[in-house]
Amino acid sequence: MSEKFDIPFKSDMVPKILDDDTKIQFRCHKGISCFNACCKNADITLTPYDVLRLKKRLGMTSGEFLKQHTVPFEMDGDKVPGIKMRTDDAGACLFVTEEGCSVYEDRPAACRYYPVGHLAMKPKDEKTERTSYFLVEEEHCKGHQEAREISIGDYREEQEVEPYDDMNHEWYQIMLKKKSAGPTVGKPPEMSLQLFFMCSYDLDRFRRFVLSDSFKNTYLLEDETYAELERDDEALLKFGYRLLKHVLFGELNIPERKGIWEKRFEERKEVFELRRQAEIARKQQAEDDKYKNDV
Ligand code: SF4
Ligand code: SF4
Repeated sequence: MSEKFDIPFKSDMVPKILDDDTKIQFRCHKGISCFNACCKNADITLTPYDVLRLKKRLGMTSGEFLKQHTVPFEMDGDKVPGIKMRTDDAGACLFVTEEGCSVYEDRPAACRYYPVGHLAMKPKDEKTERTSYFLVEEEHCKGHQEAREISIGDYREEQEVEPYDDMNHEWYQIMLKKKSAGPTVGKPPEMSLQLFFMCSYDLDRFRRFVLSDSFKNTYLLEDETYAELERDDEALLKFGYRLLKHVLFGELNIPERKGIWEKRFEERKEVFELRRQAEIARKQQAEDDKYKNDV
């Protein structure tokens, strides 16, 4: 048995598993009769690196991009938040034009891989996951009838998926680890789901969080690291994965200030005590008011 997390295509068929050397018959080009058909019926799940590239391309903050170009969905039964590319009412991607994709150089990994799906699998008795591929053959896609054979490895190179795979790999690992942790971990608390969303997709908000006083008072990072996280989106995204592993799985790979949790506990204790005293005072006042008119 194995745990799996499939990305990004949905299909009712059981796919035939392929590898980098498997040859497929496929070619997509502007002159083909189905040109743009796939983009006019788009169901694109976005990864963290997709958001990073697209928001940069469009000159937007991650918050603006999420609001204008994505819709949320639940990635699994545990409410892990995912996002999909927003489409118009007819299901067409907002970036498709008569000329083709208007964000082509920064198109998401799912668009690059199509019609190849990829699948990260972690056999129960192995430590690391394996990536396998499968072919999606849809009626409307005529690229499968073109006379070109290409290995999946060469197709991945042609579609320049490597930076996407590199940047998303650790994120897929986090998803797999969460899945294979199974029911012992239970439903993740709301706070960790929010953290997952922010670290994965809302990089600019995550940056403000990392540079805030409360973060700096909790975690011990070098000034140079903060400077890098302030200017470099990719470094920030990787740091987000580190923080997720630290918080979700207790991997403790970010140094914390000594005694910070005890200090917080003490601060909270003071707050609770003040609240308790305020409540006693309020009750006493209410009692006094009750008898005031009797004297
Ligand atoms: S991003 Fe580009 S390639 Fe992907 S669905 Fe939209 S138009 Fe098509
Ligand atoms: S060949 Fe397939 S991938 Fe290319 S435009 Fe046609 S439907 Fe889309």
